[in-house]
Amino acid sequence: MERLTDINVIRELLGRHGFTFSKALGQNFLINPSVCPRMADAAVESVRSDAPVGVIEIGPGIGVLTRELLQRADKVVAVELDKRLLPVLDETLGEFDNLKVVNADVLALDLHRLIKEEFDGMEVVVCANLPYYITSPVIMKLLEDKLPIRSVTVMVQKEAAVRLCSQPGTRDSSAITAAVRYYCDPDLLFHVSAGSFLPAPKVDSAVIQLVLHEPAVHPKDEKTFFKVIKGAFAQRRKTVLNSLSSALSLDKSAVRAILESSGVEESARAERLTLANFSAIADAVYEME
Ligand code: SAM
Repeated sequence: MERLTDINVIRELLGRHGFTFSKALGQNFLINPSVCPRMADAAVESVRSDAPVGVIEIGPGIGVLTRELLQRADKVVAVELDKRLLPVLDETLGEFDNLKVVNADVLALDLHRLIKEEFDGMEVVVCANLPYYITSPVIMKLLEDKLPIRSVTVMVQKEAAVRLCSQPGTRDSSAITAAVRYYCDPDLLFHVSAGSFLPAPKVDSAVIQLVLHEPAVHPKDEKTFFKVIKGAFAQRRKTVLNSLSSALSLDKSAVRAILESSGVEESARAERLTLANFSAIADAVYEME
């Protein structure tokens, strides 16, 4: 198979299949030949044991990253929503017998079941050049579903990469920052320019890696913990006193008492709070409910 990062090869292949790019599905295909090998190396090397490695890829497109993953992992399951790409993938990756393509929306898929059925006895990682319109929901699904996976190595927009990898308590942090730190250690691996894609998006991108670990703090009730985080960031310019009072439908006096018992100043903004602060507030809210 000729190089899948060569624009002429891609145009000929897609033209023959009558394929046109869908903006709505976030279809920007990688044409920078150095990116996919680096992503695939990082994903597979995040597994520290000698166990066989299984990879879930989200959105294989024409298979440029998939090919690199297939050469390094024991098995790849690639989840692609766009049916029109299935015959293309048949042609580009037909030679591999360690690939399964699943035609589905990753957000609607039962990934626990998929892992159980496809990756028995393997260490599982996720690797993808994510369609940008679903970056946050995909990452939250991967983390909140508590899947037995080691790591998530994904291409995201640069701004999202900064937000996902920032520390809680700093200016770039947001609700998803706190959730990411709760479940994993994030790392921004490298930047990728907009010109590395066909068609070129408006903004640059970056590859990040999230390595999963045991929860970083131990709130009494996880649901309350996430409700507090989302509520505190819902109006991030407001003080936590105001944002929590409206998000949790509680009197200001009640929220004031909660913040005081948690050691958090009522004038603080959500972006200044650490995971330990959120956990303490969530415990106080939970005790009160
Ligand atoms: N991996 C290819 C590459 O790097 O060139 C394509 C990446 S492109 C940014 C995103 C891919 O995700 C497209 O192939 C698109 O059709 C697919 N996609 C979009 N939404 C999806 C969804 N909800 N579930 C699964 N795949 C999806």
